[in-house]
Order: sequence, then structure tokens, then C-alpha cells
Amino acid sequence: MPIDSNNMPRARTKIVATVGPACRSPDQLAELVAAGADVFRLNAAHATIDEHAETLAAIRQTSARTSRPLGVLLDLAGPKIRLGDLPGDEIECALHAEFRFARGSAAGPQVLTTSYEPLVDELEIGNRVMLADGTVAMTVTDKGPDYATCRVTQAGLIRSRQGVNLPGVKLSAPAMDDDDRAAARWAAENGVDYVGLSFVRDPQDVRELRTLLGEHSGVARVIAKVEKQEALDRLEEIITAADGVMVARGDLGVEIDVAKMPVVQKQIVATCRRHHKPVIIATQMLDSMQHARRPTRAEATDVANAILDGGDACMLSGETAIGKYPRHAVAVMNSIALATEEMFRDNVPIRPGEFASDGLRPITSAVVYGAGHVAAELDARLIVVASHTGATALALSMQRNYVPTVGISDVAETLRRMCLYWGVIPLAGMPTGNDQEMLEAVTTWGVEQGTLRPGDDVVLVGGIGSRSGSHNQVVVHHVP
Ligand code: PEP
Repeated sequence: MPIDSNNMPRARTKIVATVGPACRSPDQLAELVAAGADVFRLNAAHATIDEHAETLAAIRQTSARTSRPLGVLLDLAGPKIRLGDLPGDEIECALHAEFRFARGSAAGPQVLTTSYEPLVDELEIGNRVMLADGTVAMTVTDKGPDYATCRVTQAGLIRSRQGVNLPGVKLSAPAMDDDDRAAARWAAENGVDYVGLSFVRDPQDVRELRTLLGEHSGVARVIAKVEKQEALDRLEEIITAADGVMVARGDLGVEIDVAKMPVVQKQIVATCRRHHKPVIIATQMLDSMQHARRPTRAEATDVANAILDGGDACMLSGETAIGKYPRHAVAVMNSIALATEEMFRDNVPIRPGEFASDGLRPITSAVVYGAGHVAAELDARLIVVASHTGATALALSMQRNYVPTVGISDVAETLRRMCLYWGVIPLAGMPTGNDQEMLEAVTTWGVEQGTLRPGDDVVLVGGIGSRSGSHNQVVVHHVP
């Protein structure tokens, strides 16, 4: 069982915690780390770049204080459409009532405005408009040059600035606007590890963000947020273009029929696994814990099923950002994951997938696969790998070995990136030049942490020979 510096068992499944007013001080962040958080998500839609800079500094401070690499994911807002301000900030939409979407910002009791200027041009009669997280639905019944009239088909309350979803409507909005580009530039210039691209529709959206990050010397990897039918239509291409994926169930569950959500989640996760791309399951995982110390049975089961589907990470949104019990939510997710991972105890390493090139040489792939078998056969405590880019650590992660992998690197960014890799414990401050020294240092660390005891086996994925960066041997070290 992987143990952290506070001797608390940590799950192999990674926990992404969204930062917000409920957890953004260094003390609160340290509590979340102690409870099991691996990656912190900054939501670009809800803060300014100056606020993100402050949060990033607090995360870096927490990382130094807890001696633990921590990943950072900046989630871009993307072409999300929001309602404008409503008179009195909310309107009750009665069944069959009529509203007009209009240009500009002058809303009235029956007139709605949005953040997306071309909306009235792009809506067609018969299109559905979903509001308030899908709880209110309207259908377009008429349109003119400056308005689109809608009739309410599902009644409910709408509030100012809530999201607007248009299932099946192809919008002309670009993947990133000026604010998204500025946020991505900031991420590149400040060593953010992952950038989430919202409402991806086309693999070109992913490539555009990657180019932008590269132009600003960013090392951040691109996480494609799958939250539209258009992304599902081009899933393989989008996953191929991205470094990782988020099943963004908040918007996806409104853009598609919610009844299809469970099967679609399984399809996205399975496709990511075939492509060896980490996948995060997001939104409402422990939603009731915004207000309660215990999750519902259904939520606990949802987290477990996401892990059994093959998810690499589970995400907390409002639970940590604005909830009453952020630390509890992380600790509960960690303990559900630990209990679920017992199902993987007898795992045999999963063979590299059909599309799992990952830039690994065939020898490295074979050695990684063999190391997983050796570790399982010996019931080893740890697998150890030094990985310059993180690719070998990711390959070990994708095998879903029950035996955790200690990931070592001479590159700080690589260690932080490993925070998202299932079953990988990134360990800073270890020697990387010489396999023997590395084994000894990891063994000393493991014994001090209580992870290793005399008689335990540690499996090293190492390398001999002249090719730097190649892994071509498996060594078993018996702890004296
Ligand atoms: C989601 O839609 O599930 C999601 C994670 O995106 P956001 O929180 O940006 O709406």
C-alpha cells in the first residue's frame, strides 16, 4: 500500500482537487495533500490570472512544505456560453412560457441575453436550449434577424450567468478566445503542468493549444475535455492529439442524453486506455459532500465504478472549491479508491495497447511489461523507475500493476506530471545517475516511511549500456 509522508495510506488512483475559496490558503492546501490530493485544478472561468498566480504560489509553497511534487491543471473556460444578467438575478420559467434570446445586454422579464453574440444567428427553429445545468429546457419556435423565440418545455428557475447548453447545435465559436489564450500563455510561462481545453470539437483545437503553449516555452500537457457530442464523434482523433482526457460530465451530461452518460463514460475511458492516455473522471463524484461529511451510497459507487472502468484520476469540483468539507471529501475519495483497488490485487500487467507507441522503444516496452510480471510474481512492495520524460513511468502506470511504482526524475516538471499517473508515486530528491545509488536511496526512504521492511523485494526498471534514457533491464533488490 503506498504510504505518504504522514504515513497515511494513499490510493493509486489520483485525486484532482479543484481550488476555490474553501481551500486556497497554504494550510488548507496542505490538509488536502495530507488527505490524498495529487493535482490541483485552477478553474480559469472563476478567477483572474492574478488570483491564479497567488494560488499557484500557495501550491508551490505547499509542495515544498510537504516534500511532495504536486501537479497543477489550469482548466480554460473555452467557448462556454453563459446567460447575461437577469432582472433580480433570477427568473422562474413556467412550462410553455415564451422567452426571447436577443442580442446585446438589455435583458427583461421575457428577454434573455448571453455571452455569445452570434447565438441568435446560429439557433434554428426546433433546436433545444438547456439552462441551469439541464434542469430547464426550451425549444426554439421562431426566429428573426435579432431574436430567437423559445418555449419552455421543462420548467424551473434560471439565474444570472448560468451556463447555456445547446445540444446538437454546431457553433462557430473558436476553441479559444482572447481570455483563453492569455490564460494559456500564463500557464506556459509559469510552469503549469496540464492545461484543460473545454468543449473540444476537433483535434485541431488540441493542436492549436499545444502550439500556443510551445510558442511560450510551456511544458504543459493538453487535457482534452470531452463535453460535446461533436467530441464523441471524433473521439479517437481527439484522444490521439491530446496528452490526456477529462470526462467532463457536468456539460457532457447536458449536451447528450443523461441516460447515455454511464455507457459513454465507459467508452471514453476504454478508448483512452487503448491509446495509453490518462483519463480523469470529473463532476459530481461526491457532490453531496459539499454539505455533508458522508457521501451517498450512489456517490461512493460512482467513484468505485470510475476506477473499475479504468479511470486514472477522479476529480472533485465544488466539493473542494466551495464545499463545507474539502478535506473530508478528499479523504473519502482516497478511502473509496483504496477499497476499490483491492479488486486489482491479482492483476496481471495489461499488455501495451494497440496504439500504445508512446515513443517507447520495443525493448523498453517489453522490459516494462516483464517488470510488472516479476513484481506480481514476487509480491514485491515497489517498482522503481527513473524516467527523464515520464514516458516509462506512464507505461508502468498503464499496466495497472497492483505493486506501486516509485517514479524518479532529474526533471521537476516530469515529477509533477507523474502526479496524474495511476499507481505512480513521484519522489523528489533521489539520485538518478546510477541505478545502484538510486535503489539504495529509495530503499532508505521506503524503510523510513514504513513502506519497506527487511525481506521485501523492490523491482528496478533500469538500464545498462551506452544509450541514455533507455530501460533495458529488470533488477530485483531484496531489502536487507
Ligand atoms: C464539466 O463540465 O464537467 C467540467 C469539469 O467543466 P467545467 O467545470 O469547466 O464546467
